[in-house]
Amino acid sequence: MTKKIFLSGIYHETHTFLSQPTTLSDFIINIGDDIIRENTGNGSPTDGFIEFASQKHWDIISGIQMSARPSGIVDEDAENFFDMKFFEKLEQNCENIDAIFLILHGAMVSKNHDDFEGDFLEKINHILKQKNITIPIVAVLDLHANVSDKMIDNSTCVYAYRKNPHSDSRDAAIKAALILNDLFENPNVNQVNYKTKYILPPTGVGTANDPMKSVLLEAKKIEKNDKDIICINVMAGYSYADIADCGFSLSCCTKGDVKIANNYLVSLAKVLEAKIDFAYPKENTLEEVLKKIKSLPVSDKPILLIEPADNIGGGTPGDATDLLSRLLQSDQEGIVAIINDPDSVQKCHQSKVGNEIELNVGAKFDNFHGAPIKIKAIIQKLSDGKFTLKNKQSHLASMMGMHIDMGLSAVLKTQQLTLLLTSIKTPPMDLGQLLSQDINPEEAKLIVIKAAVSHKDAYDPISSYSFYIDSQGLCTSNLKRLPFKKIGNKVIALN
Ligand SMILES: [Zn+2]
Repeated sequence: MTKKIFLSGIYHETHTFLSQPTTLSDFIINIGDDIIRENTGNGSPTDGFIEFASQKHWDIISGIQMSARPSGIVDEDAENFFDMKFFEKLEQNCENIDAIFLILHGAMVSKNHDDFEGDFLEKINHILKQKNITIPIVAVLDLHANVSDKMIDNSTCVYAYRKNPHSDSRDAAIKAALILNDLFENPNVNQVNYKTKYILPPTGVGTANDPMKSVLLEAKKIEKNDKDIICINVMAGYSYADIADCGFSLSCCTKGDVKIANNYLVSLAKVLEAKIDFAYPKENTLEEVLKKIKSLPVSDKPILLIEPADNIGGGTPGDATDLLSRLLQSDQEGIVAIINDPDSVQKCHQSKVGNEIELNVGAKFDNFHGAPIKIKAIIQKLSDGKFTLKNKQSHLASMMGMHIDMGLSAVLKTQQLTLLLTSIKTPPMDLGQLLSQDINPEEAKLIVIKAAVSHKDAYDPISSYSFYIDSQGLCTSNLKRLPFKKIGNKVIALN
């Protein structure tokens, strides 16, 4: 018999220290069959699920899918809208479905829910129990999810991305769908969750490096050697969430003994402990880096100046100026940078290509990301800011598929700098972003990158060196600068 799968999702990584909330208008919303229409072929996790479902001739019952770029706490209108649409559709269909499949992030915080996904899954379970319905609930999670016990206790199996940058997000959804397929044959599984005391900055959780590399490797060995283990998730966590469940965790879904599964997670936590120094990397000052650059051998490839404190993929506004303003005070030329500044873009679009314009650029979102930079520049390009990913497996595809909208955009040129201004903040995860604006990143001398790890697949191959630079901003790697209140005794730094 054809399986009927209820498909929905909500994707948001919530930076709780940002002052501005995330509203309903910040979300891309698809309801009903639009979920399938909008995602088919776009390289997203949902696309992966749709492909698998089609191969298995599953009938997809589409609920609601909402996703927004990482940003502040999700407001009441947005959480209520999702809740209303999801549960209305679930109530209509729950007697006739064989499973629920959810595309989640796992680090969403809303006005009324510190653990949005945990409370959401608990409510689903409650409704199903009331109606005596027992069906699998499988969810895909981002590797940066802050996994609560509630999320684990109220789902059948969660499966997270294994890679950061998230080049495997679509594959992860296919794997989760495969697990669901097996669950129809063997429904008796259990999950265990193991939360560690560590909250790790995004710069410390790239999967090409330790500690993630070693923990993932050991987890993979266990998955391979013990046939009872369905999956082990190594969850980096998302550090900018001031909630009790913030932090690095491990979870396991098993057909076997939960005690054995739990012992595996304890052993993996020891692997983390052994490599914990690498999870809190030290950053340079710009002055140190500029000195180092002078002594480097000449290369025709650009140098990356990474600015994790304004990591757009981590939620900050993408308009921090602290690093760029100081860089412009040096004698460096051939700089490429991107600043999100809708107000300045408007002014450029009121002028025309070839004109000189004077602007105060950046640092308009809040008071945590520097001061506007006074700039006199020639307008080199004006565009609608739409582009298609150059790499279909880009980290960006996990967030929004392959067609990206930066809003109205403008390119400015000065003696030192080529500056892309956008109207919708867009993480630098794909070279298509600059190439679509006729900026060839390979011709730059220095590229300022507002990211922590997610830029690597795009920018590392074209660069000679990269330096992480400490600057002002709410995605700082120095977590001691943030006013945490709800995390108890968790470790946010090693000294
Ligand atoms: Zn992530």
